[in-house]
Amino acid sequence: MKTTPILIVGQGPYGLALANYLEHKGLDFRIIGKPMELWRKHTFSDTALRSDMATSEIAHPKNRYSIDAFRKQVGLRSDSEERVTVKEYRNYIDWVLDKIPYKIQEVYLKKLTQHQGRFHAELETGELIKAKQVVIATGVAHHLNVPEEFKKAADVIHSYQVAKIESLKHKKILVVGSGQSAAEAIEVCQQNENLVQWYSRKEPRYYSEPLDLPKWMFDLVVKSAGLFRRLPPIIIKNLFSIFSATTITPDYKSKLSQITRFSVKPDLAEYDHVITATGYRYSLNHMTFLGEELRSSLKMRASMPSIDKNFMSSTKNLYFVGPSTEAFFGPPMKFMIGSQYVAPRLSKILTG
Ligand SMILES: Cc1cc2nc3c(=O)[nH]c(=O)nc-3n(C[C@H](O)[C@H](O)[C@H](O)COP(=O)(O)OP(=O)(O)OC[C@H]3O[C@@H](n4cnc5c(N)ncnc54)[C@H](O)[C@@H]3O)c2cc1C
Repeated sequence: MKTTPILIVGQGPYGLALANYLEHKGLDFRIIGKPMELWRKHTFSDTALRSDMATSEIAHPKNRYSIDAFRKQVGLRSDSEERVTVKEYRNYIDWVLDKIPYKIQEVYLKKLTQHQGRFHAELETGELIKAKQVVIATGVAHHLNVPEEFKKAADVIHSYQVAKIESLKHKKILVVGSGQSAAEAIEVCQQNENLVQWYSRKEPRYYSEPLDLPKWMFDLVVKSAGLFRRLPPIIIKNLFSIFSATTITPDYKSKLSQITRFSVKPDLAEYDHVITATGYRYSLNHMTFLGEELRSSLKMRASMPSIDKNFMSSTKNLYFVGPSTEAFFGPPMKFMIGSQYVAPRLSKILTG
């Protein structure tokens, strides 16, 4: 069994940003997962990011992987006001992955267990790694939310399953949800000559920022991520409902006005497919790659492991970062920008 002082599980913006900080400090670590999987495989190709350039970069202590630098190097015009398209972002990801000096291992974790104070990670390839400290940065993939009332529909597809949605042609489809993913799924299905209808209980709200906030306030919220931890859970919950309102970018307003929208659920039997763009619900129970004993020993708050100000769970040396920690560090963790808060701080903790 190989050993490592630090194992990072996940190669999204959070895992890679942390790896960049550790590498910069000259620390030994290993990182596993599928690099930027969400952005390469689970976002619609013809859309754009909601976050701006500076808040979508893979963080590095010397800002080595800025989108601006990428654009300059490949001869693209740099306009920080312009939204980055998913196609361009994928090229940016390839550029970053080509430049990073450490080894990334494209493999999933199958099971994590703990034995005499050390973690044992069994990979899907059968390889075993022994680690002193483990950081779970597995993002959204395990937490797709499909409300109970849609589970019985003929063919339910979550908006995360982009490849499946893009393959639908000449079908009758109901898209459920009131956010950006619903809008994007509707557009793709329409382009592919499907008959699309929309079920959104709420009147859609059109707004360009990812949080329903002016940009200056968004920046302030991000900078004060640490403060969220000090607030009682009930206040955080109420703040979320103000800050994290579901919105759609205004460029969809006229396109969506031509779609039949129901505010009361139609008969699902009428559709070939139901696409649930109903977001993500985080729960430790979904993270079955964590051994049962380990999971049941963790102290919980709501349905996720409770973490302290250093991102550590009640199991010593086991850390959680990314969107599933929103209940502790606030709305910034839902977005890539949260990694710019986490990576510098956690890299210091892991050094000690
Ligand atoms: C459709 C969509 C659009 C979004 N748009 C934006 C946007 O424009 N701007 C923004 O800031 N945020 C956006 N977000 C939020 C986005 O999810 C987060 O900002 C960010 O991607 C989370 O990063 P992460 O590193 O935590 O996880 P992810 O990016 O989800 O990456 C998870 C990583 O974990 C790995 N993994 C999963 N399971 C295992 C396992 N068992 N073993 C090993 N590795 C594993 C995956 O392979 C992957 O490498 C969007 C989210 C969605 C779903």
